[in-house]
Amino acid sequence: MVASEIRALFAVASRPEVVSLAGGMPYVTALPLDMVGELVSELVTRRGPVALQYGSGQGDPHLREQICDVMRLEGIQATADDVVVTVGSQQALDLITRIFIDPGDVVLAEGPSYVGALGTFAAYQAKVVHIAMDDQGIVPESLAQTIYALETAGAPIKFLYTIPNFQNPAGVTLNIARRQQVIDICQRAGVLVIEDNPYGLLGFDGEPMPALRADNPDGVVYLGSFSKTLAPGFRVGWALAPHAIRDKLVLAMESAVLSHSSFTQLAVGQYLATQPWREQIKTFRELYRERRDALLDALDSLMPPEVTWTRPGGGFFVWATLPEGLDSKAILPRAVAERVAFVPGTGFFSDGSGARHMRLSYCYPEPDRIREGVRRLAGVIEQEMQL
Ligand code: PMP
Repeated sequence: MVASEIRALFAVASRPEVVSLAGGMPYVTALPLDMVGELVSELVTRRGPVALQYGSGQGDPHLREQICDVMRLEGIQATADDVVVTVGSQQALDLITRIFIDPGDVVLAEGPSYVGALGTFAAYQAKVVHIAMDDQGIVPESLAQTIYALETAGAPIKFLYTIPNFQNPAGVTLNIARRQQVIDICQRAGVLVIEDNPYGLLGFDGEPMPALRADNPDGVVYLGSFSKTLAPGFRVGWALAPHAIRDKLVLAMESAVLSHSSFTQLAVGQYLATQPWREQIKTFRELYRERRDALLDALDSLMPPEVTWTRPGGGFFVWATLPEGLDSKAILPRAVAERVAFVPGTGFFSDGSGARHMRLSYCYPEPDRIREGVRRLAGVIEQEMQL
């Protein structure tokens, strides 16, 4: 495991005068915090002996039922027995990788992909092979060709890791036709799909997309999380898996932490049972939509025409591409000196590519700050282009 080279810079970037388009922190201030306080206090007085006790390795049964209600919004029919509650979906990723990966095994992932997943895969010494993606998500031909080439070379492919909705970092969504193609290709090749979906309910237009897992209970492990629809501080996520994998997940969970925190599981369960959680998700969607619009409008009016970017329909992230010859990691110190921060693209690839890209997050700063951040960033990029 290695620390990221840009970590030190982020300490500087978190100073209040810096507009951070870097972190992917949900805007938890938009939650009714008094209500959360009451709920937590009531939990201790009413259900203290359960909330403060060890729980089961699979997770609280009632919460698992509620999780099934949430997943129904994306066309998933499942029962509480199919679900394992984890410490955020990050732990689910860790447990899945621990179960499946021997050093040198191959994991397929979009290029670019979520930095936290790439870090986990690296920690277990998986070899990540990237699949091309465009503004409609994974390119099915690239997936099929890569699997064919790896199989021909005798490489052991363990799974495809994919973030189909409002991808981190690219902000793109796998279109409906490609969903079926991706499933068909993986099914034919016997490749398990890990569907990581923390942003699926944060779409700005229309209904949520059907999950890859919806019609494919045997070939897909689905990872979900309350980090973006409620709050990451509870650290409640989950995995929905075929029973043979679920059994191993529970064993791995018990060996890692015995059980998730009973306290936060019951708090989330109480929140779902007593609060208008669908309305809260709508509030988050509207808030993030306004910030997405602020970022896109500012980019449209301020960035040099040689810079391009994606236009996300939900989630937290825009992926920008700089003109040939520019390197986002080299630009970052200059940007921080001008009081704006972003994440350079190389962290989202396991093969060192991505230098011309940057991830811009709009989830945390207020719209005015986003505009000011883009103004500063556009100035830095213009200067770089003249060098
Ligand atoms: N997957 C993706 C794609 C993410 O963006 C994140 C959070 N940034 C996670 C998983 C982990 O989230 P959590 O552990 O809070 O559920």
